Amino acid sequence: MRTEFILEAIAAVNEAVLNSEAELESLDREIGDGDHFINLKRGCAALLAMRDELAPLPPADALQRIGMKLLSTIGGASGPLIATFFMTMAKVEKAGDISSLAEIAAAFHASVEAIKQRGKADAGEKTMLDTLIPVADTFSRLTAADADPVQVFDAIQQAAEQGMLSTKDMIATKGRAAFLGERAIGHIDPGARSSQIIIHTITELAKQHQAA
Ligand code: ADP
Ligand code: MG
Repeated sequence: MRTEFILEAIAAVNEAVLNSEAELESLDREIGDGDHFINLKRGCAALLAMRDELAPLPPADALQRIGMKLLSTIGGASGPLIATFFMTMAKVEKAGDISSLAEIAAAFHASVEAIKQRGKADAGEKTMLDTLIPVADTFSRLTAADADPVQVFDAIQQAAEQGMLSTKDMIATKGRAAFLGERAIGHIDPGARSSQIIIHTITELAKQHQAA
């Protein structure tokens, strides 16, 4: 992993989040409290402002600072969970240089596991994990089979989209939406959608790098 790529990803994700304002706001208004977009926007702005501080750092240190910054800026239920993801990525990166796609997949898998533990949640509870778990599984499976990188990124995008859409028919058992019971049915989970948008954006960037 390269810090340069992380910085590019931050800029691209910031743009994608800003472009999704209306949708993310309305999703969280339907089954939450409406602040999910604002929470993410604040996190993205804080990371953009760290550009000069992050640029000279090795990726493990950049990921660690990103995690700490997100912990103190995003807030809500999602803040500590997203922060945990980056801090675990940092820990795995620190333990040994992660460079191959299979190693990045393993780090991603470990980081999604850390979110599960931190939020005491799993697949099927109508959360961001319904996007992240199928992505982690697809990423590991295809890189273990030595698939072509572009094929891996396409499969990840598909898994993310399917996972995100699957939250529509679920009852929530974690987060604010759990208070709604059956009334949450018919609404996509905001965290599942934002995770899917972010994953789509980063894999598009990775595909561009492959083509270059
Ligand atoms: P809040 O719920 O505090 O307003 P946000 O609106 O920023 O925070 O984030 C809501 C999202 O957080 C939900 O859509 C869901 O995807 C995710 N979420 C909430 N609780 C959990 C949990 N225990 N595990 C995983 N994701 C969760
Ligand atoms: Mg909210």
